[in-house]
Amino acid sequence: MQITENLCPSSKYSVKCPYSMSPIGVCIHNTANDASAKNEVAYMLGNGSKTSYHYAVDDKEIVHAIADNRNAWHAGDGGSGKGNRKYISIEICYSKSGGPRFEAAMKNAAWLTAKLLREHNWTVANVKKHQDFSGKYCPHRILSDYGWDCFLNLVKAELGGESAAPQKVGFEPGKIYTVKITADSLNVRDGAGADYPINTSVAKNGVYTVVEVRNGWGLLKSGSGWINLAYTAVTGYTDRPTVMSARDAVSALANKGVISSPEYWLGALDQLPYLPNLVIKMANTDLRPDAKNGYTNAPQAAKAMADAGVIDSPDYWTANYSRVQYLEELLVKFANKLWM
Ligand SMILES: [Zn+2]
Repeated sequence: MQITENLCPSSKYSVKCPYSMSPIGVCIHNTANDASAKNEVAYMLGNGSKTSYHYAVDDKEIVHAIADNRNAWHAGDGGSGKGNRKYISIEICYSKSGGPRFEAAMKNAAWLTAKLLREHNWTVANVKKHQDFSGKYCPHRILSDYGWDCFLNLVKAELGGESAAPQKVGFEPGKIYTVKITADSLNVRDGAGADYPINTSVAKNGVYTVVEVRNGWGLLKSGSGWINLAYTAVTGYTDRPTVMSARDAVSALANKGVISSPEYWLGALDQLPYLPNLVIKMANTDLRPDAKNGYTNAPQAAKAMADAGVIDSPDYWTANYSRVQYLEELLVKFANKLWM
């Protein structure tokens, strides 16, 4: 593995790495964005902020930004904190999106970590995560999708001269989970991400049913919103039942309040070739209990449904909705109940 040097010039030492350092371990981070290692380092060295780190690693290369014998400001534990003053920091790139590119970067970071452990005669006990020093949920993608032990196992494999594959933990789509809350209080948000507004919160040790999983977030069966599954422990799961027939789909949609006269729709199903498929897809989509999104016509609704992955061809529905009476009403009602 190639290590590219783009070391901080001494003219910037006073900002980025003012102290000399005898390191005692390695601290792992995730960048929380989707920049390459080269761009990440260029940005860090080019700006005037104190924030700094020793290495950035992506799927293709390792870029060395600050010499291992100088400190960096990465751990959030203050001017004399152990993390900031005693640890060599590694930023793993592409953590915002995750996926194969991130997995490759994580493996390269495990290789680099093993190399540093060997050079300093350390063991995996000398490998820490940002969270250990300041409580920040970092490296977020490793913690949410793989678990910290997964990364340590990759490092151990590298130390043993082997190469291990990262294994994702838990939470597959198509299953319903019961989970126990492990945080003291966990926010329930209006979408699958930390940027969505908070609807309510749930308390430690409460047990909840999660009916849909998206990006490490789970939709509560109650319909009150989404929780970050990293702060839960799985207590059980079952396969999610799927609606297979258009007839069942119509009654499921009536139960969810999307369709008010199921008899009408049972009679209308053969009026458009793809209508039975559409209602089946609709019935297998988790909906919010209230209506929220503010769509008022079929083209808007079709676009929203395509964005949510419910349909593939919004153009077809935009061109054909008027061939079935009340179809626009159905599309609009459904789209306004999507969790977007
Ligand atoms: Zn961090």
